[in-house]
Amino acid sequence: MKRIVVVGGGVAGLTAALHIKDGAGEIAGGVEVLLLEGGDRVGGNIRTDRDDGWIIECGPNGYLDNVSTTPALVKRLKLERRVQPADEGAAKRFLYRNGRLNLLATNPIAFLASPVLSLRGRLRILFEPFSGSAKPGRDETVYEFGKRHIGHEAATVLIDAMVSGVYAGNIHELSLASAFPKMAEMEAKHGSLVKAMMARGRERRAAKKPGGPAGPGGTLTSFDDGLDVLVSALARELGDSVWLQCTVKRIKRDSSTSGAKPWNVVVEGGASLQCDAVMLAVPAAPAVPLVQPLDATLADTLSAIRSAGLVVVALGYEAEAVGGAPDGFGFLVPRGTGPRILGCLWDSSLFPGRAPNGKVLLRVMIGGAHDPQAVTLDDHTLLGIVRKDLRTTMGIDAEPVLARIYRHPNGIAQYTVGHQQRLDTIHQRLERLPGLWVTGSSYYGVSMNACIARAGDQADEILRYLDSL
Ligand SMILES: Cc1cc2nc3c(=O)[nH]c(=O)nc-3n(C[C@H](O)[C@H](O)[C@H](O)COP(=O)(O)OP(=O)(O)OC[C@H]3O[C@@H](n4cnc5c(N)ncnc54)[C@H](O)[C@@H]3O)c2cc1C
Repeated sequence: MKRIVVVGGGVAGLTAALHIKDGAGEIAGGVEVLLLEGGDRVGGNIRTDRDDGWIIECGPNGYLDNVSTTPALVKRLKLERRVQPADEGAAKRFLYRNGRLNLLATNPIAFLASPVLSLRGRLRILFEPFSGSAKPGRDETVYEFGKRHIGHEAATVLIDAMVSGVYAGNIHELSLASAFPKMAEMEAKHGSLVKAMMARGRERRAAKKPGGPAGPGGTLTSFDDGLDVLVSALARELGDSVWLQCTVKRIKRDSSTSGAKPWNVVVEGGASLQCDAVMLAVPAAPAVPLVQPLDATLADTLSAIRSAGLVVVALGYEAEAVGGAPDGFGFLVPRGTGPRILGCLWDSSLFPGRAPNGKVLLRVMIGGAHDPQAVTLDDHTLLGIVRKDLRTTMGIDAEPVLARIYRHPNGIAQYTVGHQQRLDTIHQRLERLPGLWVTGSSYYGVSMNACIARAGDQADEILRYLDSL
């Protein structure tokens, strides 16, 4: 029997392991899949806390339903009836600017009439169709791209906020082509982003899809009892293939004995497993010490893929104490406008049922690439900052009836300038280590959708490899 060890039980590792298990019957000699997770639960960043009627997401709050792989996985897990799309009101998104929350316009005309940018900033956008292209071969930052297309003000206000919402990142460091490949494609196809957004808006209206032309498209989707319904179902399907509290400490390769399994995975405590292939489904940082003895260049390249720490502060209130349930998705705060928080999601409005009757659940994000100190702050300090910023932005003075803090030190991978080159190097180095794969949010997309799609494709590659042995 051939054996593959998947290291890491986040959504990427779980998806890959299930895909391999499902395909194992087709492989000559059969395949045993083992998934080793260091923690005492699966899911990685995806975790849902439940407490007396509150359903609180500790990390992500959903996926967009506009790619086919995640709905296909949901179907494979027989979870279709448990899917919960976000409330229609979620189309309303706000931006904190000029001392208040501004509704983000969902069409270009309304946008030009809205005061979210100065008149000069809005007029500059009219010149977007004449932006000119990037220098060939240059890996532009998100800011450089944004400034070239829509000017400095719109880049530092609108694009900065969008980048906070997805990457908690820094627009002066992230690579446009790696972090927002669709934007790069839109530029290549339409030359102008305005034309591209109008074309997307038309497509979406024709398909009766929600979201404005500048929005991410698709419907934000979760499950009736929170997002970890997905990872729990994956773990259930994998059954005793999942080993918890098994932190992998070392990986060794010995291909000198023909016919023997060349890979050796050593876990904390010293036990080891021989196998034919290893998939590292952990973020780049914890993968570094595992690959260091195998290939120093690979380890150095992985260590250059940094991530931004992030804290989620969940606060519950009596609805009447905060003027009723807020109407919409939540708001983002561009850097340099005062508040330290990155934004706030109005969870109980997005997904009704997340708070007990008469209560409201808000989730605030703080930290990210601009503010690495935030993850090191104690609970009392974080609560003080968040409550002050909610007073400034939403006018909330009331005492919360629930407060939970979740720190993500390895938060979200940052695809900074040079990311594609690093991916190319990783690919070349892995070719010299047959049977070793890396997957997860550090490489080809940080969203759950991207992690699931990539893990599935790589699982197919692994099955082909195992079949060839
Ligand atoms: C606060 C926050 C909000 C987010 N919001 C969204 C959102 O709304 N929508 C969205 O699509 N995405 C969102 N994301 C991104 C998304 O959650 C992640 O990209 C995705 O969950 C990453 O999955 P993963 O499997 O690659 O890694 P992880 O979830 O990091 O899982 C890796 C696993 O590996 C384990 N591990 C690490 N080292 C070892 C070792 N040596 N041995 C064994 N096990 C090990 C860890 O314990 C962990 O369980 C958010 C992320 C954060 C932090």
